[in-house]
Amino acid sequence: MAGRAPVVTCPHCAAEVELVDEAWEPFDEVLNGWAEGRDAIIACPACAQPVEPTSWKWADDYFALGHLGFTFWNWPPLRPEFVAEFTHRLGGHRTVLLAGKS
Ligand SMILES: [Zn+2]
Repeated sequence: MAGRAPVVTCPHCAAEVELVDEAWEPFDEVLNGWAEGRDAIIACPACAQPVEPTSWKWADDYFALGHLGFTFWNWPPLRPEFVAEFTHRLGGHRTVLLAGKS
């Protein structure tokens, strides 16, 4: 993960955490975990509530953690082989198949 954000804000209490020295370490795990397919949920240093990786507000949108979604309209159920090939073509990223209509 390249670079460091200067400040991150808790979505629960709006406390701003200055990411200096050891304050950075848990967030390093959040970002590296995300990149490796793990959700590192850490507690806010100010209010102690657990925060999902995607919920932290990074100063200046320094980082953005998100999901890329594809919708297949009017398709029959996706065959496991198709999903496996799709995952392979996405470079082996973690994929989740959500079936049904929204
Ligand atoms: Zn908080």
